[in-house]
Amino acid sequence: MSWTEMALNGRILIVDDAMENIQILHGALQDEQEVLFALDGPRALELARSQHPDLILLDAVMPGMDGYAVCAALRAASDTSDIPVMFVTALTSPEDETRALGAGAVDFITKPVNAAVVRARVRTQLTVKRQADALRALTLTDPLTGVANRRAFDERLEAEWRRCARAGLPVSLILVDVDHFKLYNDHYGHQAGDACLVQVAAGLRRAAGRTHDLVTRYGGEEFAILLPQLDPAGAECVARRLQKELAQLDLPHAASPTAPRLTVSMGLATQVPGEGQAAAALLAAADAQLYEAKGDGRNQYRVAVQD
Ligand code: GH3
Ligand code: MG
Ligand code: MG
Repeated sequence: MSWTEMALNGRILIVDDAMENIQILHGALQDEQEVLFALDGPRALELARSQHPDLILLDAVMPGMDGYAVCAALRAASDTSDIPVMFVTALTSPEDETRALGAGAVDFITKPVNAAVVRARVRTQLTVKRQADALRALTLTDPLTGVANRRAFDERLEAEWRRCARAGLPVSLILVDVDHFKLYNDHYGHQAGDACLVQVAAGLRRAAGRTHDLVTRYGGEEFAILLPQLDPAGAECVARRLQKELAQLDLPHAASPTAPRLTVSMGLATQVPGEGQAAAALLAAADAQLYEAKGDGRNQYRVAVQD
């Protein structure tokens, strides 16, 4: 995305209890941004959660839930906390401005608004937001395979663990380790090894493609697939799909004592997060099964018995 593109075609949520104010801002932005609007705070929060706007233009004074309360609620929820908020208000005292910035707003525009100024400030904030998004994506992605990295896995595991604990739902995990990968590198070279990991990662993605599923490179030639809300039968289904994907990839591994082609071993575990139980228990359970699968001859999966 170029510098200019980064400032345009964002999704902007305008929140104001007066329709005429929404119309003025909409008029200023509609040619270069996608505009959504809400006439009160609760509706604004609903849209922020469901539509993930890039930026919110928020009226400070509204009946019922005012702009400061909306801003605090956005900050408090993890799925909306990183949406930048710009206050648009008739209040102009330094105290008002300080209060808005203190509530977590990134900028402050005073009414009556000037269309060119609004456009320019929105462009600036949109660019900053997109740069921040790109940087965050980079810190969560494995550069070789393009799948999520260990950091992303740790974050998501904790979040899904908490979410499923509240909902009483299971979390499944598959640890995948490439068999005899050291011998693969020794035989075909490290670069071929890299290319092989890229293919394995793509196969994993095809095998675990639901929106909640997360394929991660856990480290080296080891991958972890996080499967929230999936029971043991569902996790086994993913493991079998992965075996099928690998069979289709049919990557030769002439040096492997296990098979003439690349294989993986897997450890599966499923738990419904219990009171005071840490997510690490799930990892340990899957790891123990991976160890069993390796010991029993590789190229297979083992499933932890749920307690
Ligand atoms: P096992 O079947 O017991 O898992 O044997 P293994 O050889 O796969 O396991 P081991 O842990 O002994 O070796 C892992 C190998 O994976 C060694 C390491 O050089 C290789 N490896 C780790 N990361 C990368 C990578 O990014 N690229 C390449 N090409 N090789 C990697
Ligand atoms: Mg290995
Ligand atoms: Mg390993």
